[in-house]
Amino acid sequence: METGKVVIISGPSGAGKTTVVKQLIQECSLPLELSVSATTRPARPGEKDGIDYRFMSDEKFQHHRENQDFLECFEVFGRGYWYGTLKTDVTTSLAAGKWVILEIDVQGMKSVKSQYADAISVFIRPSSLDELERRLRGRATESEETIQRRLEVATHEWSYKTQYTYDIINESVDETVKTICQSLLTHR
Ligand code: 5GP
Repeated sequence: METGKVVIISGPSGAGKTTVVKQLIQECSLPLELSVSATTRPARPGEKDGIDYRFMSDEKFQHHRENQDFLECFEVFGRGYWYGTLKTDVTTSLAAGKWVILEIDVQGMKSVKSQYADAISVFIRPSSLDELERRLRGRATESEETIQRRLEVATHEWSYKTQYTYDIINESVDETVKTICQSLLTHR
């Protein structure tokens, strides 16, 4: 069996990444699998341990760090929590021929690229930072402070978009999923 590939997906919060990834896994004919990251951030309502994230204490996370269990791990810019990809999750999936999707930030992308040179990376974003601000405000559930912080993080991440294999503007989820699937298929 052929070994799989690593697919990195990044993008600012509010870009629609999670929705795109879910639909991509359902609709694309490749054997895609989402890697479940570890994090020290508390679960949000509705999130399930082992499905959305592996939620862990600071202590447990640092223990994994010391053991060098992570392929990459970072205190994600502007979040104040640690996030990381466990090495064994990725190596097991690759050995089984899966294409492992890592939904990680820009720091994680750089680290993974240095270890898997043939990793395919996709940056998903709205057309402009103004559009992102409109989307974040449109949710109307977040405080002004949260919106400002997200925009600050997004502005920082935005500057890395040219370092990705694909820089994709998400205007319609269906179109974005189709574009990413077709792009990935060219790497088969
Ligand atoms: P959230 O807390 O909103 O689920 O995610 C916050 C940010 O953490 C997102 O930008 C997401 O891409 C990033 N992230 C999630 N898991 C990982 C991971 O394992 N490694 C890295 N470097 N970033 C991650």
